[in-house]
Amino acid sequence: MISAASLILALSIILFLIFGRSHGTYYELIDFVMGTRVRIYVAGDKMPSKVLAEIAMQEFKRIDQKYDPYKPGSILYKINHASTWTAVDEETLGLIKAAIGFSKGTEGAFDPALGRIIKLWGFDEFSSKSASELRVPAGYDIHRALEKSGVDKIVVDSKNSRVYVKNGAWIDLGGMVKGYALERAFKKIKAIDKNATGFIDAGGDIRIIGPKFGTTYWSIGIKNPRGEGIIGMIYLKEGAVATSGDYERYFIADGVRYHHILDPKTGMPARAAWSVTVIAKDAVTADVLSTAGFVLARDWRYETVRFPEIGAQVLIVLDGGKIVKSEGFEHYEKPK
Ligand code: AMP
Ligand code: MG
Repeated sequence: MISAASLILALSIILFLIFGRSHGTYYELIDFVMGTRVRIYVAGDKMPSKVLAEIAMQEFKRIDQKYDPYKPGSILYKINHASTWTAVDEETLGLIKAAIGFSKGTEGAFDPALGRIIKLWGFDEFSSKSASELRVPAGYDIHRALEKSGVDKIVVDSKNSRVYVKNGAWIDLGGMVKGYALERAFKKIKAIDKNATGFIDAGGDIRIIGPKFGTTYWSIGIKNPRGEGIIGMIYLKEGAVATSGDYERYFIADGVRYHHILDPKTGMPARAAWSVTVIAKDAVTADVLSTAGFVLARDWRYETVRFPEIGAQVLIVLDGGKIVKSEGFEHYEKPK
C-alpha cells in the first residue's frame, strides 16, 4: 500500500518538475535590422539572458548584411551583378536551393528572382524613399523587367558550389530572409541553452523560443490590415507565425494602393488579399508561405486546403475584409 505521505511527496516532485524549474529572468533587446524592428525576449539559465539576446541579434545582422541584394558587399549583390558563375558557400547554396524548392512548391507564387521588378517599383530600399520617387511604372518597363525576372533564370551548380543568374535577373530573398534569420537566431540560442524560452519578433513575424516561463503560451495579436488594433489572437508555445500584408510597404497613386508583394505572372502587386497570416513549425516556412499565400489568395479555397497538407495553418483577410482560414487555424485561437 502506498501511504498518503509518499503519495503527497511523489505529487510534489511531479509538480516541481513541471512548474518549479528555475528560469533566468527575461531580457529584452530591440534593434532595427532588415528595415524592421527586431525584438528579442529571452530567458535561459545556462548563461545571462542578455548574452543570449545579443548572440541572436548578431546573427540577425550577419544575415541582413549577407543577403541584402541591394547592398554592395552582400553575396546576393555579387551574384546579381556578375556576368558568369559566382562561387558561394554552403549556407548560400542551401538558401538559394531552398528558395527554388519553395517556388516549385507554391506553383511559382513565391519567386526568389523578382529583384529587377521589385527595384522597378521602388520597393527595394523603400524606407529611404520619398513619396515623389514612388510611382506606377510604365507597362512597357514592367514587361521588360519581367523578362529579366523569374526563378527559371537561376542556375545552381551544387557540385562546384556556384550560382549564376541568366538574362540579367536579380535574386531577392526578401520574402524569406526574415524567417531565415529568425530560425537561425532561434537555433543559436537553443544550441547554447536548449531550455531557453521566449520569442523573437521581427516586425510581426515571430519565432517562439520556448513557452512563457517554460510552461504557458505566448499571446499574439493579428494586426488589423486596415486601421488600428487587432482582428484576433493566437496562442503559441512553439513554432512560428508570419504575416504578409499590403499595409507594410506601399504607396497610393490616384487612390489605388500599390504594395510590395508582386504577382510573378503580371509584375503587379497581388490584389486578392489585404493580409495573410501563416502558422508553421519553423519561421522559414511561415515567412515563405505568408508571401506565397498572399499571391495565391486569388485561389484561397485551394490554399486553405493545400497549406495544412504541408504543415501550415493560414488565415487570410481577403480584399474587402472577409476573413477565411484553414480548419486547423482555430486550434491556435484558444489558449490551452
Ligand atoms: P513578406 O513581407 O515576407 O511578404 O516579403 C515581401 C518581400 O518579398 C518584398 O519586399 C520583396 O522583397 C519580396 N517579394 C515580393 N513579391 C514576392 C514574390 N511573389 N515571391 C517572393 N518574394 C517576393
Ligand atoms: Mg514572407
